[in-house]
Amino acid sequence: MLATPARSFPPRCRRIQAYKYNKPRSVRARAASSMAAAAETKGGVIGAGEVENGGGGGGGGGGGGEVSLREWQGWGTSSPVPAMVTEVIRELRALELETDSSMRFGGLGGKLQGEFKVQEDKKHRKVYDSLTDSERKLQFFAARQIACRLLGSRGYLCQKCWLPKEDCMCSRIVPCSLWDGIRFWLYMHPKDFLRQNNTGKLLWQIFGTQAATLCLFGITEHEEIMWHAFSHAGKGMVWLLYPNKNLFPKSVQDIVIDGVFRKTGGQDMDLGDEPLNFVLIDGTWSNSAAMYKRLKERWKLTWGDEDLPCISLSTLGASVMHKLRPQPSWDRTCTAAAAAGLLSELHLRPQLSTLRLDKQAEAVEQALDFLLDSLTSRRLRMGRSITRRERHKNCV
Ligand SMILES: [Zn+2]
Repeated sequence: MLATPARSFPPRCRRIQAYKYNKPRSVRARAASSMAAAAETKGGVIGAGEVENGGGGGGGGGGGGEVSLREWQGWGTSSPVPAMVTEVIRELRALELETDSSMRFGGLGGKLQGEFKVQEDKKHRKVYDSLTDSERKLQFFAARQIACRLLGSRGYLCQKCWLPKEDCMCSRIVPCSLWDGIRFWLYMHPKDFLRQNNTGKLLWQIFGTQAATLCLFGITEHEEIMWHAFSHAGKGMVWLLYPNKNLFPKSVQDIVIDGVFRKTGGQDMDLGDEPLNFVLIDGTWSNSAAMYKRLKERWKLTWGDEDLPCISLSTLGASVMHKLRPQPSWDRTCTAAAAAGLLSELHLRPQLSTLRLDKQAEAVEQALDFLLDSLTSRRLRMGRSITRRERHKNCV
């Protein structure tokens, strides 16, 4: 890896990471359940078990009507409603009629509740077992997770910031234009969809869904949109933020940026036709391996090449990050912090220094700060005090 100028990672980005790994016991328990499911995924058998609503405290949700295009896109995507999500919701509705019971979400995590949950478990396991193709199993798993999270969050979470409506932080977000030469792709695990402490969502809140686009793992419509954009942009214009996977590890210094200035011609910098595409894997570290594997397989299929270009950020101070999160991780930090780090490092490239990428990084850091404030004040209001140790960690 080439040396890059040192830059301390912004304290507020570390704070949110500290929050993420010092969660209440109930949250940790849910994380453990996610990991178990991920482990099953790697083995080719996706656990079709409980669906959680990730952020905790789902208050019943808004019930099981079909999802309209407007509602779907309101959650942060410009894609059509995924066909399989629609199908799963129809099946849930049909089960309501069959069993003469209503689907209900509640409790910590906003899970399906009561007798309906028992019936639904039986039904979806049967469907899952009937699928012989592993690709179909993944698609079904993803669609069901997303459908249940969506129904369980209806009327409870703010669609834009994915926080309970009473904690909505939207008014604090300051929109900012991302330089046109860059496009982010948030490759998100279904278990992170509508999760309150997810940070990838901040990117499209700040930059808009065209500059920072959600791509849900296992959702065909999303993955096709992303890969179509990659094919159009060309092989040299796609990078994945994921460490140590190349034979020769790469850094931001290795990104060839001439392509985004094709029309320069000695004049002021002008944009080429296609932006640089950066994929950020937005999931727990244990889920990220399966997501990386899927990207790599598609990469090979598209370009006949095993070498999915991964870059590591040099600004993530390994020693500090390691103290905060001793587990292995794909980037040692949260998704939005990784995006801010990337922008900050790109800003240090002389050709890009006038594009105000540092200000765009600051906008992300500021939004992370607001998210941490909202999550912390919610925890306080819910009656859980922050211990001195946590307070210290959150301010490292
Ligand atoms: Zn909001």
